[in-house]
Amino acid sequence: MMPLRPDLGGIPLYAPSPLDDVSLDLRDNVNLWGTPPSALRAVQAATTELLREYPRVSAGALTQAVAAPLGIAADQVVAGCGSDDVLDACIRAVATDGATLAHADPTFSMIPTFARLNRVTPIAVPLRRDGAMDVDALLATRAAIIYACSPNNPTGTVTPRGELVRLFDEAPGIVLLDEAYGEFTDAHDLRREAAQRENVLVTRTFSKAWGLAGLRVGYGVGSAALVAAVTKARGPYKVNAAAELAAAAALTQDGEWVREVARQTCIERDRLAAAMRRLPGVTVWASEGNFVFAALDRPAKDVADRFRSRGIGVRAFSGLPGIGDALRIGAAPTAETDRVIAALDEVFA
Ligand code: PMP
Repeated sequence: MMPLRPDLGGIPLYAPSPLDDVSLDLRDNVNLWGTPPSALRAVQAATTELLREYPRVSAGALTQAVAAPLGIAADQVVAGCGSDDVLDACIRAVATDGATLAHADPTFSMIPTFARLNRVTPIAVPLRRDGAMDVDALLATRAAIIYACSPNNPTGTVTPRGELVRLFDEAPGIVLLDEAYGEFTDAHDLRREAAQRENVLVTRTFSKAWGLAGLRVGYGVGSAALVAAVTKARGPYKVNAAAELAAAAALTQDGEWVREVARQTCIERDRLAAAMRRLPGVTVWASEGNFVFAALDRPAKDVADRFRSRGIGVRAFSGLPGIGDALRIGAAPTAETDRVIAALDEVFA
């Protein structure tokens, strides 16, 4: 017997199987429009020196590029190997014996896993029927950390800004607000608000609108004290040198590229959502992320298999609490969206 943690066996492994047989993979909500040109140039221009030396522990070029347009200080930004890394580190920074983390259910599936890995007990609070988080029920848990995701993965639904601010005001501990899909909605951008409060970390990612999932970069914004604690819990050198330069280049040079791609993403998402609303037995939710989410009256796995046999990968969910089976389909450029729409009648026949 290897001397491993006895509870590890009960913690799920995140390892989606690769779909080598599909030509259009819409499972991961990545940016199928491409990558900011300046980021690609930055990676291509990498030098021996850049690759040989350690990067700065502070990831200063990146934290500065995030902070400047927000009018906050670079020490109010913590960067990591994807926003996953920042979320995990924030939970670790708060973890004490008996600590709990409250989250909406369903939400980003890694959150209860990160909690358990950090010996924090997750508490699932059902999402409201309108898709917003139940702020009162989250507050009632008195959890040390409240994780809030808006637009929420996998439903795409947003929680109104005022409700999130109330959560900030009334939470007994830390609020971790995940704005991974923030570029696709006008509902809220609470990064500046977080920088002005002691107890809030707002995370964002370069994996979605910014088209850089393969580079693994994300960040959190909060008070300098909270950012210092999360940085300590994260550990050094999590953002590699090439990723830091590419993400910083994208932020400073390609904001317009990202805004335009996000605009097109929302148009194609809504076009797909409208086509799916016409199908019997399909309930499309009001997504403000870069994906469509729909509850089904039949097994989602069967529907996903039918898409797959037509070369399209979609994400199937089985038995989501209060929802049942559901599909999540990433938004894609016009030609690819046409392909998905053309497959709908056959897939749902
Ligand atoms: N938060 C949410 C809500 C997500 O959907 C994801 C990825 N699917 C992440 C965080 C993590 O993204 P990354 O680590 O690539 O930044």
